[in-house]
Amino acid sequence: MGKFKELLQEMRRTPKESTVEAATTIAQVAVFSVVQLKEYCREHDLPQSRSKLQLVQRVSVHLKLPEAGASTEIQRQRPLKYPKLAVHDIAYKLKSWIYTCAKNASLRGDTTPELLTMDIHNAADHWAGDHTTCSYVHGMKKCVVENWTGGKEAKYPEGGKTHKAVKEFLKKYITETKMKCYIRARENFISEIFHSVINKFSTKRIHFDASHTARLACAAMDWNENIRRDVRATYQHASNDTAVRRRAKTNRVMVERTSHWKKALAATVFS
Ligand SMILES: [Zn+2]
Repeated sequence: MGKFKELLQEMRRTPKESTVEAATTIAQVAVFSVVQLKEYCREHDLPQSRSKLQLVQRVSVHLKLPEAGASTEIQRQRPLKYPKLAVHDIAYKLKSWIYTCAKNASLRGDTTPELLTMDIHNAADHWAGDHTTCSYVHGMKKCVVENWTGGKEAKYPEGGKTHKAVKEFLKKYITETKMKCYIRARENFISEIFHSVINKFSTKRIHFDASHTARLACAAMDWNENIRRDVRATYQHASNDTAVRRRAKTNRVMVERTSHWKKALAATVFS
C-alpha cells in the first residue's frame, strides 16, 4: 500500500512544508490533513471543527497569512490540481476503504481476488455518488441501506476530472495480482516474532547439529507459555515535536514472562 504517498504527490501540486507553522500561504495550509490541522488547533487553543475548510481558515487566520480573513472560497484560491481530493481527504479515506474491503473479502471467505479488486475500484464511483456496484458487492453498505440517491453525499461530480483521476489511479495500482495477497486480511507479524524467539534458543551464528530440533521445541514451548500475556500498562514516548508525538506508537508493558515449561521438562526428563 506504499503508493498512497505517490497518490498524494500526484494529486497535490503544492509541496508540503515540514510543519503547519512553516506554511506561508493558505494553499500550503490546505495541504495538511484534517488530523494535522486539528492537532495544530488543539495546541493553540483554537476551536475545533470537522470541516477541513473551517480548519484551514482558522489556522490561516491564526498564522496571520495574507488574505486569510477573506478566504471564504479556499478551493478557488489554492493551486491544486484536484482540490476536492484534499478537501475530502480522499487519500486517507482510500486507505481505510481498502482495509474494509479486505476485511469483507476475508469474511466472505473469498478465494479469488476479483470481487475484492472490484470492491476497491468501486470507491471512485461511490464517492461520485454512483452506488450501483455498492449494492452488488455488499448489500449492507451505509449508502445502500440509506439509499443515497441524487449524489447528495457525493464528494466530487460524476464523470468529472477528479472522478476520472481517482478511477485511473485505482486501475493502475490496484490490480488483481497485487490484491491476491490481501484477500485474507492477515498480517505476518506473529511469525516474525516467533522467529525472534527461535533465535534466542538456536542462535543463527552457530550450527547446532544434534540439538537443533530440541532447541526448536524449546522455542515453541516458551512461545506457547508466554503468548497473549496480559497488558499491565500502556505508555507513549513524550516529545516536544508534534510530528514525532503523532507517529509515536502506544507501548505496552506486559506481565513478566514465565518459564514453567522448563521445570515440567526437567521433571519429566530427570525424574
Ligand atoms: Zn456506495
